[in-house]
Amino acid sequence: MSLPPRMRAVVFERTGMFGVDTVPTPRPARNEALVRVRSSMICGTDEKILAGKFPATRFPHVPGHEFSGDVVAIGEGVTLAPGARVGVEVHVGCGTCDRCREGMYTLCLNYGKRETGHAHVGFTTSGGLAEYAAVPVAALHRLPDSVSFDDGAWTDNVGIALWALERGRLAAGERVVVFGPGAIGLCAAQLARALGAGSVLLVGRGERLARVRDLVDAVIDVSDVDRLWGSADLVVEFAGTSEAARAAILTARRGGRVVLGGSTGLGTELSGLDLSTIVRGNIDVLGSLANPRGVSGRALTLLARGQVDVKRLVTHHFPLERFADAWTTFTERRNGAIRVMLHPAEGT
Ligand SMILES: [Zn+2]
Ligand SMILES: [Zn+2]
Repeated sequence: MSLPPRMRAVVFERTGMFGVDTVPTPRPARNEALVRVRSSMICGTDEKILAGKFPATRFPHVPGHEFSGDVVAIGEGVTLAPGARVGVEVHVGCGTCDRCREGMYTLCLNYGKRETGHAHVGFTTSGGLAEYAAVPVAALHRLPDSVSFDDGAWTDNVGIALWALERGRLAAGERVVVFGPGAIGLCAAQLARALGAGSVLLVGRGERLARVRDLVDAVIDVSDVDRLWGSADLVVEFAGTSEAARAAILTARRGGRVVLGGSTGLGTELSGLDLSTIVRGNIDVLGSLANPRGVSGRALTLLARGQVDVKRLVTHHFPLERFADAWTTFTERRNGAIRVMLHPAEGT
């Protein structure tokens, strides 16, 4: 197909300022494919990028890292056929540093250095809140036939949730508490059930909590969280606040595990916790970043089997031109917004 020379895209122009603009359509470089973006979501991390909390992101920047689409053009060295339906994983390592060689390309020692092959899609490279995105093929997962573009936009998110549970060594029958009823927390809660958790409790607040009541065994408002102290085998935190991290650690039983995954941007400090809680409790406190080792591929299999329902986590849909409305709906959590979905390739 012949590609239009220019396309519509969301542009973060500088800290705190964005718009929808016409920009040159990217061309796929070596080892990249050009993806026509069908479904693309806004994430809490995009708020942190716009606020300048990711120093590696340079403005002006085309954001978007939770997306899917179809391949319309390929660069040199790519065998993926045009027409392939793909979901995007966010981290691409250089492939040769010590961390990449361990499969931990999320921790690539060449972070941000494009010339080494490293890419953090939608962070250090242009992302998918645009009609087209040039993406390294190492970041692409073929979507199973039964996974729609809307569901495929969750490729990275479901992988993040699955990796956190694997970090936490979830065993069948265990009591799991998840902090944060946002998109990733709700994927983690559903996956914990799919992996055989004995019970799953979700801690949060507001309209979102009521909306997802049936996905878990019980929901707990943060104001009541102290009744959970010392009760969980595994605690998973995707709330991203200091209070949630502290409460997550207090919720673990002695000898239990806590996986912290919410505070991905700079500037959140943990305070108000007696360290003996961790030491005398013999608690494993683990950080979990993104989804290394191709875990997104397995996550897509679980999605295809219906073990994670992401459709109901998409509370709003917008065309790209209405990005400003979509942004406000998401960032102000209007009408219990969990994820808002944009459809860039469908035009206006
Ligand atoms: Zn995200
Ligand atoms: Zn590397």
